[in-house]
Amino acid sequence: MSRPETEFWHHFDSKEITSRLETSVEEGLPLLEIPRRRNRFGSNSLTQAKAETKLQIFIRQFQQPLVYILLAATALTIVLHEWADAAVIFAVVLVNSIIGFVQEAKALQAINALSKALSSEATVIRGGQTATIPAVELVPGDCVKLQSGDRVPSDIRLLKIRDLQIDESALTGESVPVEKSVAELPEPTPLAERLNIAYSSTLVTYGTGIGIVVATGDHTEIGHINKLIASADVLETPLVRRINELSHMLLKVILLLAGMVAAAILLRGAPAVEVLLAAVALAVGAIPEGLPAVVTATLALGVSRLASRRAIVRKLPAVETLGSTSVICSDKTGTLTQNQMTVRQVTTGDTQFHVDGAGYEPAGTISCADRPDEAPSQDSRLSELLRAGALCNDTRLSAGDDGGWKVEGDPTEAALLVSAAKLGLIRDAVEAEFPRVDTIPFESQYQYMATLHQSPRAESVVYVKGSVERLLPMCRQWSGGGSLVAANVHAQVEAMASQGLRVLAFAKKIVSPEQTSLEHADLSDGLELLGLQGMIDPPRPEAIQAVAACQGAGIRVKMITGDHVGTATAIAAQLGLQGRFDEGGEELFGITGVQLENLTDRELIESVEEIAVFARVSPAQKLRLVEALQACGNIVAMTGDGVNDAPALRQANIGVAMGITGTEVTKEAADMILTDDNFASIEAAVEEGRGIYDNLTKFIAWTLPTNLGEAGIILVAAFLGLQLPITPLQILWINMSTAILLGATLAFEPKEPGIMSRTPRDPNEAILSLELIIRTLWAGGLLVFATYAVFAFKKSLGVDLDSARTASVNVIVIGQAAYLLTCRSVRVSLFKIGFFTNPLVLIGIAAMIGLQLLLTYLPLLNQIFGTAPTSWRPWALAVAAGLLLFTLAELDKLRTNRKPS
Ligand code: ADP
Ligand code: MG
Repeated sequence: MSRPETEFWHHFDSKEITSRLETSVEEGLPLLEIPRRRNRFGSNSLTQAKAETKLQIFIRQFQQPLVYILLAATALTIVLHEWADAAVIFAVVLVNSIIGFVQEAKALQAINALSKALSSEATVIRGGQTATIPAVELVPGDCVKLQSGDRVPSDIRLLKIRDLQIDESALTGESVPVEKSVAELPEPTPLAERLNIAYSSTLVTYGTGIGIVVATGDHTEIGHINKLIASADVLETPLVRRINELSHMLLKVILLLAGMVAAAILLRGAPAVEVLLAAVALAVGAIPEGLPAVVTATLALGVSRLASRRAIVRKLPAVETLGSTSVICSDKTGTLTQNQMTVRQVTTGDTQFHVDGAGYEPAGTISCADRPDEAPSQDSRLSELLRAGALCNDTRLSAGDDGGWKVEGDPTEAALLVSAAKLGLIRDAVEAEFPRVDTIPFESQYQYMATLHQSPRAESVVYVKGSVERLLPMCRQWSGGGSLVAANVHAQVEAMASQGLRVLAFAKKIVSPEQTSLEHADLSDGLELLGLQGMIDPPRPEAIQAVAACQGAGIRVKMITGDHVGTATAIAAQLGLQGRFDEGGEELFGITGVQLENLTDRELIESVEEIAVFARVSPAQKLRLVEALQACGNIVAMTGDGVNDAPALRQANIGVAMGITGTEVTKEAADMILTDDNFASIEAAVEEGRGIYDNLTKFIAWTLPTNLGEAGIILVAAFLGLQLPITPLQILWINMSTAILLGATLAFEPKEPGIMSRTPRDPNEAILSLELIIRTLWAGGLLVFATYAVFAFKKSLGVDLDSARTASVNVIVIGQAAYLLTCRSVRVSLFKIGFFTNPLVLIGIAAMIGLQLLLTYLPLLNQIFGTAPTSWRPWALAVAAGLLLFTLAELDKLRTNRKPS
């Protein structure tokens, strides 16, 4: 075998391809051949394109306005020969950048590792068996099946297709899907016109196909270009952006204040060195050095917390947006329901049958209440209806190792295999009798599937199954000749749907035995209706709870489904979805896609928030729904599984894809992927999102009074001509050590009780409420006052300056520790959330006190930071100040909470 990537595969016919690659379309590669080829051609993965280098990421940490100030301060102190100051300030910059770098690397790693765990899969034929394997294991010569929603796993020469359309924008930038073909093409055909090749990384938007892998990994066309996986996701979230804006503003304010301080001291004729040092002190005091690092750390921690609750975040901003979600639009089947279908009721026109049994176990009987004496297996219309279900079916059901039944394919179809088996119609036997000749696969756009079969008689037969709305207009009469009254059939469907049954209609058409292929046009008329099968798909119990939790949290839940409106509303009622009440007091719950189409944009915007169920909606209507909800000011989370859902997912604020049943296309478009397809996981993610945002707010609320206090201390000293109670160096010490030991522990704060009984946060709301700003102001003021009080007290005792300053530092640090305790919740009393519920906070405070003891009594640190041992009295004063701050802040919470909101 020659190296496959050198050949003009588009130019060869199917025989030449299979012989050159020593494979076959029917059997695929022999299993023993595969390891040999993997050795020779390597795995089917692309060498990762180099994104930003580590060094670049590190350097980027310095490119922040606040860091510029610190760098300037370093330069200034060097010029003034204040070596210790210069060293410490620069050390702060360095530590900060290292923390930022590590956090960013961690966050990226978490996201990358998670998205890798969701590696894509490929359906192959190997050794005559169809199997699903990880796409990286493909080798040249493998026979691959493609269907709509798949990402093409390697370069594939197509040999058999049905209506195959592929979006090749990943390769060509052209987003209109390309209609593929299998015919050989002349050798010089350019890449974009090689219609018989499906290129790796492109997306199947419609139809199905089978082909042979001709190139894998870096040898594919996309591998040649390899611009695709260039960069990991950016880490900028709306909050990070707002904090950056805040930094820019702070920069200006700080420069202004520093200028004022310098001017104030200069006017008193102080030496230039002192002036500059005071300005530097103010700048470093006012900058919340720990802020960027803690924000990234909290978000990164959030990613792994969400993953442990089965929500994989693909884009970091989602972590934050989740907390303000106000509407969740969810698929019904599989997300809100169990996707465990069991046929319960079967109708063949005039006769109704009841089906016993549970799950996919083919045990249970079929009975007819009207004709208790007749054996249903004798009913030829019933057996043809069930046979149609078994034949027009692409799903496999096999006995699992644990005694259960394993579905490979669509649960709806699995239920049909089971109902047929209950009448003794086993699929393999039936199919041997009626071999399949051709298939029109199910596409949700058409809502039906059809198969063409030879039959033991001298004719062929087409079986069609699908939604009643689609099938009924194509039918001429009942099978067997009864006249078909559409209203009667619809009444039967309504009756079944109102019990929450998912109803499928079945029809047939006799065609000539010469016919070997099936087109949509063949079905446009002349079908005969065989009957209906209705199946239950019970709500997930955990979804019922999750819906209640969401609605309690002021989040509207909407069901978006391709299913019948009656079925959907019945299930929605079981789930407890809330909707609008019309004048009669009856809940006006659901509308269909057709009704939706008749609403103008205005009308839709007016009513969209109140409607709970949207049934039989098309993907385009989903997009319209998201837009209408957003026009009402909502933050929308939207789930999707099908190919055509991608635009709606992109438009939604949080696009949610299904990890198990979702197509590659939707996963690609999503912000978040659910590993268990379960609605309850969306609710969990929203809850986590709220907690993460809370914790960020807590950190900011905690850090600002200190920065304000420190700046205030310097300002007061400058304007009143007092001695500085703390030096720039000591300020840096405080800012860095408390941010890490105290502030960062807030990222681990457990979710507050009642987090899901608040209404969703307004995304435009300021990070700090007015109340918090006021609290910040007086807390900062109190710190200034306490510091001066202790400083003055010590000086009055006649102790040396260093020891008085040490006392001041201890006041600020202990004040911060006390304030940290109250910041564990900005609303709820500490005693309500529990003193010990975040042990890290207590450990952090203990460590911080230990560090302060070292700073006060260890000669080495005394020397570096200009501190000196103190007696016990200033400690007692510091603790008293801390207690005062704590008590006042807790009282403030009481006051603001009592106010009706
Ligand atoms: P959903 O997932 O929201 O229930 P789908 O788009 O999967 O909706 O299905 C829409 C309708 O198409 C179903 O109500 C049913 O009538 C029909 N349908 C679903 N699956 C199949 C299938 N495998 N073959 C034929 N028709 C189907
Ligand atoms: Mg579906």
